[in-house]
Amino acid sequence: MVFFMLGQDREWARALSQAITNLRDEARACFLCGNITTSEICGVCGDPRRDSSKICVVETQEDCVAMEQAGVYDGLYHVLGGRCSPLEDQEVPRESLERLKSRIAGHSVKEVILALSPRIEGDMTAYAVQDALSGFGENSAFRQPLKLSRLSYGLPVGGSIGYADRMTLHVALESRREMDEES
Ligand SMILES: [Zn+2]
Repeated sequence: MVFFMLGQDREWARALSQAITNLRDEARACFLCGNITTSEICGVCGDPRRDSSKICVVETQEDCVAMEQAGVYDGLYHVLGGRCSPLEDQEVPRESLERLKSRIAGHSVKEVILALSPRIEGDMTAYAVQDALSGFGENSAFRQPLKLSRLSYGLPVGGSIGYADRMTLHVALESRREMDEES
């Protein structure tokens, strides 16, 4: 990267340094979902075409960007900003869970989708969110049924059974689904 930059003209280097400074000064967390943005509310929260009945919970802003770049989801997000990891002495930030609950109570959210990593920390983080939202649908003033789901585990698309490890095959088998006529 250094040699690439040395090959550019001085103006290019000045523009790059200014862009890095601006990024550090202007990037912040969205007031509602915690996604990265340069204004008070991020582009997803501010887009009226997004389906506000679904909230996808992710650990980090990077996870949120990855989901957006995949272009497969049309709902809103909630960035936890942490995960449950006893070995690293980390817990899911309580403030983030409270903010998630108030977002669900304040809007007609029907489903919370947990997009958490398929490893032990992801499992514990999922339980922490589930615990925070337990009985939420019935106890909230709106009494809306709240569906809690999690991304399924399995084999990578384009992958091969022969190269999959034992645990991946096990969870892929567990999360199998019935083939319908169209499949
Ligand atoms: Zn947002």
